[in-house]
Amino acid sequence: MENTSGFGPASDSEPPNGRNHQEPAPGSILEIYPSFQPAPAGAAAATCLTADENPLQLIFPIESDTGQEINRKTIQPSFKTGQRSLSFKEKFFSDASINEWNNWKWQIANSITSLSELRRYLRLSKEEKKSLAGKNKKLPLRITPYYLSLIDSENPMQALRRTVVPVADELKIDASESADPLSEDHDTPVAGLVHRYPDRVLFLATGFCSSFCRYCTRSRLVGENCLDENRWEPAIEYIRKNTNIRDVLISGGDPLTLADEQLDYLLGRLSSIPHIDILRIGTKIPAVLPQRITPQLVKILSRRRALWMNIHFTHPDEVTPETSQACTRLASAGIPLGSQTVLLKGINDHPAVMKSLYHALLRVRVRPYYLYQCDPIRGSGHFRTSVKTGLDIIENLRGHTSGLAVPQYVIDAPGGGGKIPLLPEYFQKKEDQNIVLRNYEGKIFRYPDIYA
Ligand code: SF4
Repeated sequence: MENTSGFGPASDSEPPNGRNHQEPAPGSILEIYPSFQPAPAGAAAATCLTADENPLQLIFPIESDTGQEINRKTIQPSFKTGQRSLSFKEKFFSDASINEWNNWKWQIANSITSLSELRRYLRLSKEEKKSLAGKNKKLPLRITPYYLSLIDSENPMQALRRTVVPVADELKIDASESADPLSEDHDTPVAGLVHRYPDRVLFLATGFCSSFCRYCTRSRLVGENCLDENRWEPAIEYIRKNTNIRDVLISGGDPLTLADEQLDYLLGRLSSIPHIDILRIGTKIPAVLPQRITPQLVKILSRRRALWMNIHFTHPDEVTPETSQACTRLASAGIPLGSQTVLLKGINDHPAVMKSLYHALLRVRVRPYYLYQCDPIRGSGHFRTSVKTGLDIIENLRGHTSGLAVPQYVIDAPGGGGKIPLLPEYFQKKEDQNIVLRNYEGKIFRYPDIYA
């Protein structure tokens, strides 16, 4: 089979059932997960793209989510599978056991990484096929089988499909766009660490994600390399020496794609720094790979003091039975959960869609935190909306539903200005000692601001 993608390897031999079930590759390189030994028989392989787009085969022993090595078809899964993903699994991955399907390492090992693979599952549109054209550097393609099960195979305009399947519009670069619009590289004192605000830093723990979002702000970094523990040390040392830093946001890439041992090590090192008050994790895992939220992972996370998690959600279709279980496991362990959502044209840029998403998130104990205006990264024009669209969404939420369901709408200022909040014009004017305010119904009220 031709490798037409340019994103990653395409299989030369297509299994008869049409799926790409990678078999163990004894002796493969364990560059990112050095703690893992070459896999025993029955283990699965995952790939992590490097700068030259050669896949490094990584071996994960397949375990059940209770930490036991899977006894294939005999152990009942403790992670319940939703009807939609179960039907998809039976159609395309029928020779995988339900335990394998519910194993996060199996999901990564069997992710779809090229359009030539993707066409086995979806009827590709012209625009999707044309994304292969052009010589512009592109974000790799990667979609977990679980997330693919949520995608409409016939409708290229379906919201979730548009977030992960590339289209030709990615190749159109506007003069206002750039690879690093937030100037993060400028605020990078050591590799993998962004220090912009006085008391907090962004720690880029890995360049790997289980599924790549086509509008990713860090598309210049993700999929390009995999930051290993050697690159962590200078960043940890920087944090140790700068005693004004009290808050570390661990992101990437997606830090929950790290092995348990690696994540535990990193959290332990950062927690041991006396001036660090809180750790935060930014992740999309509960939406794209909820099977990763295993009891062992929850144990690792919950034993760290003041650990917060912000989960990247895009659309209400992401809040499935699996995602609900993942969020419930985290919340029940006392980990406060917030959401971050990027405003995307034709995907979630309607008040009803956002309200539905935020209500669904509150039901699984995730508090809507930020709504981001889409950053002007290269090739993002087809995703970006006007700022008025975002303001209209907030206007349609505030007062019309619980305040818990109203996130802060922000623009991350191009050039490194940081997050700037935006609100509809509720403040009308100052009148003598009163301020004149408009409420959500458009009614005018006066507040006596006598201490001004
Ligand atoms: S999960 Fe986050 S870091 Fe990964 S591709 Fe999506 S937006 Fe980028």
